[in-house]
Amino acid sequence: MTTPTSFRILRISALLRINGSLKNVEAVICNCQACGNESRLSAGVGLEEVPSGVQLTCPICRTSAEVPTAQFTAQWAEQLRRDRILTRAGIDPSDLYGPWT
Ligand SMILES: [Zn+2]
Repeated sequence: MTTPTSFRILRISALLRINGSLKNVEAVICNCQACGNESRLSAGVGLEEVPSGVQLTCPICRTSAEVPTAQFTAQWAEQLRRDRILTRAGIDPSDLYGPWT
């Protein structure tokens, strides 16, 4: 069963395998569609890896949703593509989102 995603993922921070595939998710910046809050969720703090994907929980309204692995991987690929374009244009992608720490 799939849960409708109620988070808009803005940025993903993840560990990569040698071959460039996604190993595990460290943190995401996302926008909660239920309350509009934008927050940074990290492992154990609103972000939990589940067998079918990643479970996100809003720290403000406690809305929780599961993002399926396929969707997450697609967003990650899109982010890499966008970052390459920004880098080529002389823009550091991390400048747009601020530091992770
Ligand atoms: Zn919320």
